[in-house]
Amino acid sequence: MNTRIAFKKHAPSLPCERCGYESLTVAALIDEDGSVIGQTLVCTTCRERRRAAATGSVPVQRS
Ligand SMILES: [Zn+2]
Repeated sequence: MNTRIAFKKHAPSLPCERCGYESLTVAALIDEDGSVIGQTLVCTTCRERRRAAATGSVPVQRS
């Protein structure tokens, strides 16, 4: 089972409870066959932090 996450282009950003930044975004859950199976809330800031912690580097890009 390989589920992808697709961010919506003009989704409004909501304040994240974990980090406090307004980077909580509605994203679509896409199944392996390309069908949308649901929606989820993803905080891009928390995702970046997790990735940075995994690779040991700090993300440069900021919006
Ligand atoms: Zn967050």
